[in-house]
Amino acid sequence: MKITFIGASHEVTGSCTYLEVNGHSFLVDCGMEQGLDVYVSEPLPVPPSEIECVLLTHAHIDHSGKLPWLYKNGFRGTVYATEASCNLCRIMLRDSAHIQEFEAEWRNRKGKRSGDKNFEPLYTMEDAEGVIKKLVSLPYGQRASVLDGVSIRFTDVGHLLGSGSIEVWMREEETRRKMVFSGDIGNRSRPILRDPQPTLEANYIMIESTYGNRCHEAHDKKTDVADLAAVIQKTLDRGGNVVIPSFAVGRTQEILYMIREIKESQMVHGHTDFKVYVDSPLANEATSVFVQSDRNCFDEEMLALLASGKNPVFFPDLEISVSSEESKAINFDQEPKVIISASGMCEAGRIRHHLKHNLWREECTVLFVGYQANGTLGRAIYEGAKTVKLFGEEVQVNAEIAYLAGISGHADKEGLLKWVRGFEQKPQMIFVNHGEDQVCTEFAECLEQEFGIMTIAPFSGTIYDLATGECLKETEGVPVPRENGQALMSKAGKLYAALLEASKNISRVAASCEGKSNKDIRQFTVELEALCEKWEQKVL
Ligand SMILES: [Zn+2]
Ligand SMILES: [Zn+2]
Repeated sequence: MKITFIGASHEVTGSCTYLEVNGHSFLVDCGMEQGLDVYVSEPLPVPPSEIECVLLTHAHIDHSGKLPWLYKNGFRGTVYATEASCNLCRIMLRDSAHIQEFEAEWRNRKGKRSGDKNFEPLYTMEDAEGVIKKLVSLPYGQRASVLDGVSIRFTDVGHLLGSGSIEVWMREEETRRKMVFSGDIGNRSRPILRDPQPTLEANYIMIESTYGNRCHEAHDKKTDVADLAAVIQKTLDRGGNVVIPSFAVGRTQEILYMIREIKESQMVHGHTDFKVYVDSPLANEATSVFVQSDRNCFDEEMLALLASGKNPVFFPDLEISVSSEESKAINFDQEPKVIISASGMCEAGRIRHHLKHNLWREECTVLFVGYQANGTLGRAIYEGAKTVKLFGEEVQVNAEIAYLAGISGHADKEGLLKWVRGFEQKPQMIFVNHGEDQVCTEFAECLEQEFGIMTIAPFSGTIYDLATGECLKETEGVPVPRENGQALMSKAGKLYAALLEASKNISRVAASCEGKSNKDIRQFTVELEALCEKWEQKVL
């Protein structure tokens, strides 16, 4: 009874965990890495053909995106997920395969000119179709046996349509253990979805930590809608466009839900018929999956809207673009408008065209509505880049950059703690994954302090025996070598850089003391000198 941590270890993307129980091998999630790859993910301990099943927490590509790759390399087992996850996977894995094929074709066209070797896509449409046939849906709340000695149950965690935490019961002769995988835990009071539901008991848990060091501002649906309305009002008044880079699946539907409300309550004045474009074929497909989905996924408000015969994510003036001609036409429409497009982190897709057309215009707003991973274009813009490169062109960032603070698909630190507090029978050990390096380490310390339970943020390749709770192999993260030969800064390097940054802060505060009372200046000086003396003695 062993667990091997593979992906999303000290990283946010690429979720994948390997388990061996009663002679059977299976995975929890098989995700793709997105954005900057920080640590090397260890290969699977066995060939994909020996993996008997995959338990899928939810359809996001960072959890499901390598399923077709697994199939391509011999996996023929079953993929268990909720019904909504299966429906979303069908469109998302096809979309992902399309991107892989497209990128390979583009590279090969380029490669032909420079004489480079043939570039093989990570997987093809055929592989995606193959693994889609292996999807088997299980309802929330129903325990099902998936392998001899292994049974599972999904619980709604309100992160994405169909998302679940997974309870895994394991038996090997007389030894019985239970582990719960949180999956991505949703935020409370989101439109459309239910709030995360608790799980009651486990021997081990594995919890995500995306926002393990952050507290979302207090919010409810009402303030989110008001904030969004204010951004739209301000931008349209200036004659600009609101460009929203949005995840095609989930976030886009939430935004549409909120804009419907804004339009119904006439919260934007002077632009009553403002147009809203959804420029993402995947988003449009996902919207129809949402409306047709299993009612068990929805909160009461959404259910009431559906019961009254309304389409909660549709309104007049909503323009759907499918073809690339329709997409291009958006930029010829001179009227101020809202453009929602994918990808959410601006790494690919049609959003990049809209950024090119709107980023340089100071009357426009780029509104971020989701997590921006390290190393993505979205993160660079969000963090204040003055220019960015799009299609080989330098584009100035003159538009207003805004962020909808309340809106997040992930629970904050408090929400994550709440999920752990929900366990009536506390686990003997907690594993933390799905968080940036520093964040998952900090969050692990925080859990250990709050609950007094041994908590580990394992690096890729770490192995634990779940029968005894013993660590069988401990690894240290291997930083991914950068293209220019430089590895990412080591942990020590990062800490030292933070120290230098803090010392700059001291100078800044000291400089701002000019003209302040003599007493304050004297006290600050004395404290600083004492601090320097203490640390000089300690380190020299
Ligand atoms: Zn997710
Ligand atoms: Zn995730």
